Amino acid sequence: MKAIRVDQFGGPDVLRSNEVPTPQASSKQLLVRVKAIGVNPVETYIRSGIYPMLPPLPYTPGKDAAGVVEAAGADVTSARVGDRVYISGTSTGAYAEFCLCDPDDVHRLPDNISFAQGAGISTSYATAYRALFQRAKALPGESVLIHGASGGVGTAATQIARAAGLLVFGTAGTGRGKNLVLENGAHHVFDHQAPNYLERAVALTDGRGFDVIIEMLANVNLANDLTALAKGGRVVVVGNRGKIEINPRDAMSRDAHILGMVLGNATAAELTSIYAALGAGLENGSLRPVVGKELPLATAAKAHEAVLEPGAYGKIVLIP
Ligand code: NAP
Repeated sequence: MKAIRVDQFGGPDVLRSNEVPTPQASSKQLLVRVKAIGVNPVETYIRSGIYPMLPPLPYTPGKDAAGVVEAAGADVTSARVGDRVYISGTSTGAYAEFCLCDPDDVHRLPDNISFAQGAGISTSYATAYRALFQRAKALPGESVLIHGASGGVGTAATQIARAAGLLVFGTAGTGRGKNLVLENGAHHVFDHQAPNYLERAVALTDGRGFDVIIEMLANVNLANDLTALAKGGRVVVVGNRGKIEINPRDAMSRDAHILGMVLGNATAAELTSIYAALGAGLENGSLRPVVGKELPLATAAKAHEAVLEPGAYGKIVLIP
């Protein structure tokens, strides 16, 4: 089968298309024929060698994909050959024509969701759900600012928050991105490059500030976020690419909470809860993954450049 292999950490050009043996499922595994692969920023950090946890070389990147079950081990009862599925993990890497998965990482893909959309579910929607409900404990009727609402996690968070009855504010850096944020259900949208946008957004909460902020670029925004929270407000740091100085008094005066998170810290019970909620939202149509760009698998390097560029628009997806 064709797979992207990384022999050494480095720039996007270390992503090379190779012919490798097709993996075989053990009695406890599923082999998935991959129809589409979701690209996440973390895969660029890992490829560069700057991420705290690195795989042994060589490796095939990726953990998000959608496809069809090609083979099921004798002990697997949760999925059958021919099932449409999306995956949230694989032992052999998702940037490939086939991948091996544990049954817990394989989820039913409803017929109303395409394979390209399915490839964009796991990391983005699970992160958004965990940030909103398991970390911030957001409640219907509260206000949420999704700071970076045009990308993978942001579009997911916007749809999930709207469906749950929150008052949703989103930001994007382009006009196209702002339109997408509104289409996804945000009540208000702002350009995170515009002057005084945060003050103008807070004014729409009658000056109270936001109950919850989901933050995609904390090294730029965290200090300002603390001034935009309501009393008892919670900011969840989802994305961060550097350091920032904050004034702790802004948190003190609001009894505010600064909550970090990585999806990898979720327990098995929390993941079960997350995927049950996502399954319901996908089925009832409130969750509609946005595919901004489809690229051939062989051009994975191009996808790694694109996912870090400004002007996000949903997910970038690779097609084998
Ligand atoms: P993405 O699809 O590339 O989207 C990035 C988002 O950040 C876009 O909406 C972008 O908006 C926005 N952004 C750019 N400049 C911004 C600014 N100054 N203020 C606020 N937002 C800004 O990436 P993603 O998949 O959504 O992931 C977002 C971040 O979360 C990444 O850093 C990723 O590594 C991280 N992440 C963390 C976890 C976790 O477990 N903690 C899981 C998944 C992702 P424009 O392009 O429109 O400007």
